[in-house]
Amino acid sequence: MAPTHQPEHRSKRCDGHSVGVLITDDHGRILIGDRTDGAGVAPVAGHIYDAHSGPRSAAIDEVREETGLTVTRLTFITSGWRANRCRRGDGPDGPGHTWYLYRARTAGQLRLAPDSYRAMWWADPAELRTLAARTVGYARGNLSDTEWAQAPGIEPVWVLWLHKADLDALPLGSKNLDDVEETLPHCLPTQAIDLTSVADDTGRAS
Ligand SMILES: [Zn+2]
Repeated sequence: MAPTHQPEHRSKRCDGHSVGVLITDDHGRILIGDRTDGAGVAPVAGHIYDAHSGPRSAAIDEVREETGLTVTRLTFITSGWRANRCRRGDGPDGPGHTWYLYRARTAGQLRLAPDSYRAMWWADPAELRTLAARTVGYARGNLSDTEWAQAPGIEPVWVLWLHKADLDALPLGSKNLDDVEETLPHCLPTQAIDLTSVADDTGRAS
């Protein structure tokens, strides 16, 4: 059955560049959301050169579009290539993205973007640890795709980013990080974790 709603981003091409934004609050929590594409629970992220002039403007725009919040401070953390596959297909450099990771503070009222997230909430370090451990379990084959879809952990590409952001939340060992990284070239959100097959066994396209 054809989807009744096709978000705009599905028709765009992957540009091979992505921003990720860790929005923090006064309580040491970060804003995360359960992505509608089944990739997992993740902070705000988005492509850069599809609609933005560069990483900083993409970060500010994506935060506004995905959360309704206004960035009041934006701090660059790190950048680097990650081999995470994309629902838009391969980018100009193959499957993966050059990522630019930022930390942000925001003002305004949180507003869910239902095309992108099923829910959004502020997660404290203990919850982030639990969600990351679930991703490690998924990477090691201890969780089925169905179990993951019903209660996903951190989106695999974000486990290392949260680690590199030096959050107290993620004292994951290198073996755990390596196991999760190995999933990146193989894990395409809409294939690996097909939400329609969970909600309705007849929903899978034939
Ligand atoms: Zn992409």
